[in-house]
Amino acid sequence: MRDPGEAPPASGPILPGSTIGVLGSGQLGRMLAIAARQMGYRVHTLSPERDTPTGQIADVEVVAAYDDLDAVQDFARNVDVVTFEFENVSAEATMAAARFAPVRPDGSVLHTTQNRLREKTFLRGAGFPVTPFAHVRSPEDLRAALPQIGLPAVLKTAGFGYDGKGQVKITRADDADGALANAGGNEWVLEAWVPFERELSVVAARGADGAFAHFGVVENAHANHILDVTVAPADVPPNIRAEAVGIARGVLEALDVVGVLCVEFFLTERGALLINELAPRPHNSGHFSIDACPASQFEQQLRAVCGLPLGETEQHLPAAMANLLGDLWAGGEPDWAAALAFPVHLHLYGKSEARPGRKMGHLTALAETGAEAARIVRLARAALVRPDDGM
Ligand code: AMP
Repeated sequence: MRDPGEAPPASGPILPGSTIGVLGSGQLGRMLAIAARQMGYRVHTLSPERDTPTGQIADVEVVAAYDDLDAVQDFARNVDVVTFEFENVSAEATMAAARFAPVRPDGSVLHTTQNRLREKTFLRGAGFPVTPFAHVRSPEDLRAALPQIGLPAVLKTAGFGYDGKGQVKITRADDADGALANAGGNEWVLEAWVPFERELSVVAARGADGAFAHFGVVENAHANHILDVTVAPADVPPNIRAEAVGIARGVLEALDVVGVLCVEFFLTERGALLINELAPRPHNSGHFSIDACPASQFEQQLRAVCGLPLGETEQHLPAAMANLLGDLWAGGEPDWAAALAFPVHLHLYGKSEARPGRKMGHLTALAETGAEAARIVRLARAALVRPDDGM
């Protein structure tokens, strides 16, 4: 613990025995906390909730609002580095924390990526390929933008959207007024609808010294706008793989990220890569790395924010990851024994309430091919539902 007002220590690695402060308390923080405790670190977490997925693993669970700047400062005073698993922390809160401990990645990375408009404007300005888009502040803006972007299009709130929340597809110009009301919010991005062939992502890490490591290119299948299954590696030609990794590296460097960042892409029918969005933290599509890679995305986050050398990421066997959503609990407790009869790894996040669409856990399978791993993980997940559940 340092005295109030003391500046954060300058540089040098943050070694085992030190304390990691995690803003946010969900499953991403939980898996980071597991990696951190394995390597002998202490973990503190701050969020407005109690008995959280991260808090169950952490040494200390602070319950406070993210905009309670006094609480955030106190939190930072008691840790050696602050990182986050939830990106909608305000610039004021990250600045308050930065008075007492290094914040990694820097608050400026959050500021850019927590708002779609800022993120897309930054990416386009830096020369990265993004979906054509227009800034919308009013019904007039939307009517003017539609002919320019074309139909179909998708209207997204500029801030605080994830897993398809705050998004409305527009197929006819007449839908425009209703779309603004349905998307909610007061500032939007109108995007061209991309008839993509596949969705891909690259999870990568960048160390405090600029070192770069990645987990390859993976393919993501979504259901109801939520990630459903990831297959790693993606079955794409080497030139696409090299291009996607190159773009990811460029984005981490352009944003000066110290930590982990995920770039989600659309691959069009013509073989072009377009960035859909960035997440400045470990990502659901990188969960396979816990079971398939020597150092997981969470260990990389830990190493990066502590200023340590990045770990080895080379995957030994193809893998697939299937999310377990709260819907699987509709008929009572899932049949864990039936799923575990398959060669899978089970990860559960310690959430007591299983709501539809809520990410409760995931399964990972390793196999000789990605397709075989996907087959196994889907069969194991299907076995969770008892035959009389009627799902
Ligand atoms: P997002 O929250 O922006 O990642 O969007 C969630 C999902 O909606 C994506 O993973 C896509 O499956 C779909 N989606 C979003 N934007 C577009 C778009 N411009 N064109 C086609 N599909 C989209």
